[in-house]
Amino acid sequence: MFADRAYFFDHGLRFECQQCGQCCTGESGTIYVGPEEIAAMAAHLGLPVGPFVETYLYPFRDSHSIREDDLGNCLFYDQGCTIYPVRPMQCSSFPFWFSNLRSEKRWQALRRECPGIGQGRLYTKQEILARVQRALRF
Ligand code: SF4
Repeated sequence: MFADRAYFFDHGLRFECQQCGQCCTGESGTIYVGPEEIAAMAAHLGLPVGPFVETYLYPFRDSHSIREDDLGNCLFYDQGCTIYPVRPMQCSSFPFWFSNLRSEKRWQALRRECPGIGQGRLYTKQEILARVQRALRF
């Protein structure tokens, strides 16, 4: 995506997480944790990095992914995200992922899964594109 091109979100999009947990629970999936994100997550839980990685992560690509329970729920979800201030970029950039912004239809369809879409503050086109860019590594 390019800053000088026109998109359906040229005038921005509203989003504010409602902490419903729908994107953290249910369907199984990978949640990429970058090498540079691990120490802050471990410190947030008061754990040394080694035991933290062993308990909560598994190897994925060049780094790790977060483990899930048998129901596909993120291990850090407990009536809300328990690592919210240090959650990985994959989580903090949601729902501004390239796959969700391919078309307005796709974005509107996502409202059924994410009640935060259409709520809260307006993200500008520049902010959205910056998040899309950061999320491209996942
Ligand atoms: S589905 Fe949307 S509103 Fe619910 S926790 Fe995820 S980002 Fe927040």
